[in-house]
Amino acid sequence: MKKYLIRTFGCQMNEHDSEKISWVLEGMNYRSTDREEDADLIIFNTCAVRKSAEERVYGQIGELKRLKRIKPGLIISICGCMMQRDEVLEIITSKHRHVDIIFGTNNIHKLPQLINNHEKTGETIIDIVEENREIDESIEANRKYSFKSFVNITYGCNNFCTYCIVPYTRGRERSREPEYIIEEIEKLAKTGCKEVTLLGQNVNSYGKTLDKEYSFADLIRDIHKIDGIERIRFMTSHPKDISDELISLYGELDKLCNQLHLPIQSGSNRILKLMNRKYTREDYLKIIDKVRRVKPDISITTDLIVGFPGETEDDFNDTLDLVKKVGFDSAFTFLYSVREGTPAANMKDQVDDEVKNQRFQRLMEVLHPIGLEYNRRYLDQTVEVLVEEVSKNNEEILNGRTNSGKLVHFKGDKGLIGELVDVRITKAKTFTLEGVLVDQ
Ligand code: SF4
Repeated sequence: MKKYLIRTFGCQMNEHDSEKISWVLEGMNYRSTDREEDADLIIFNTCAVRKSAEERVYGQIGELKRLKRIKPGLIISICGCMMQRDEVLEIITSKHRHVDIIFGTNNIHKLPQLINNHEKTGETIIDIVEENREIDESIEANRKYSFKSFVNITYGCNNFCTYCIVPYTRGRERSREPEYIIEEIEKLAKTGCKEVTLLGQNVNSYGKTLDKEYSFADLIRDIHKIDGIERIRFMTSHPKDISDELISLYGELDKLCNQLHLPIQSGSNRILKLMNRKYTREDYLKIIDKVRRVKPDISITTDLIVGFPGETEDDFNDTLDLVKKVGFDSAFTFLYSVREGTPAANMKDQVDDEVKNQRFQRLMEVLHPIGLEYNRRYLDQTVEVLVEEVSKNNEEILNGRTNSGKLVHFKGDKGLIGELVDVRITKAKTFTLEGVLVDQ
C-alpha cells in the first residue's frame, strides 16, 4: 500500500483543502504517514499570502532532492495558492526540477489523473486552471476531527484589498448551493460532529452569486435546525458586508457561537482607503456597537496590519485608539510585508522595518492587557468546553474551547475528547484559561 504525506501551509481554507486531498488519495488506496522516508508521495499545499511562507516551501522542497536521489520513485507534488502565481511556477520548473506534479487550487478533483499521467510518462505534470466557476461537489474530506469540521460555503474573493494576493490565487467569489452545504452538515452531524466552522474569504457576502434570494443569515438559520450540531462558527467576515440580519441572529440562535472575528486591519481611515477596505473606522465602531447591544458579552477578535505603506505615526495612533475603543479579546497581528503582484507592493513610502517592529511592540502592549482583562472575567465561572485534544506538553492535560473560542487547559481523561464538558475556570492568562473539570 502506498503512503502519502501532506505538508499544509496557511489558513483554514488550505487545511480543509488538505483534508479533501487526503480523501482523494485514500480513495486511491494511499495511506497517510508523517515520515518523509516512508512516503511514496509528498504534497506541499502552499500559501501565497506571505513571502516568508513561500520561502519556507522552497527550502523544504530543496531539502527533498536528497531523498528523491535515494528513492527515485518518490512523487513530489506542489499545489495551492502559490501555484497560481506565474513567477512561482517559473521558479519551481527551472530550479526545482525534482518536483513531479504541480496543480492549482481548483484542480484537487483531478489528482488521480495527474498521478496516473506522471506514473505513465515520468514527466512533470502541470495542471493549473485560472478560474473555475463550477464548484466540484463530488469531493469529500478526510477530516482531522470527527467532532468539529470545516465546511466551505464560498470560494474566492471579489474584494481586492490592495495588500492581498487571494483574489489572484483563489479567483472570483462563488457561493455553494445551500442544499449541498446542508446535506454535508447533516451527514457530519450523523457521524458525531458537534461544531461546524463555515469557511469563506468573506462569508458575509454568501449568497450573492446564487440564482435565488438566500443570505448568509438564511444559511445559518437552516444549519441551526440540524439535530446534533451544537455550535456554529464562521470565518472570515468583512465589515462592509456584515448585515443587521446576521447581527440579530446573535440574539436569537443559541447554537451561534458567542464570538465574532471581524478583521479591521487599521484604525486609520486614510490607511483603510489605501487598503481598499471600503469602510471607515466609524462604520466599524457602529457595527461593534450594534453587535454588543444584541450580545453584550460577545468575544470580538480581529486582524491588524502594522506598517502598511504610508502609515504615519498619526495613522498608527488611530489604530491604537481604535483597539482601546473596541477592546478586542485578541487579534491576529501582522507586520506588513511586500507581496509581489499586489497593488500595495508598488506603493511609495514603504515603512522602515525598525519602525514597524517598534509599532508592533506598542500594539502588543495595548492589546495584551485588554485580552487578559477579558479572560479574568471567566475566573470562578463554569463554562462549557468542547474537548479537542491532549496537550502536546503534558499528556494529563486536555485542551478545549469555550463557545466564545477561548482555549482552556484542564486535567482530564483523553476519553473526553470530542465531548462537551463543564470546566470551572481557576486561572486566566493573556491567551489561555486554565480550569478544573466539574463532575457531570
Ligand atoms: S477580503 Fe480582502 S483580505 Fe480578505 S481575501 Fe479578500 S482581498 Fe484578501
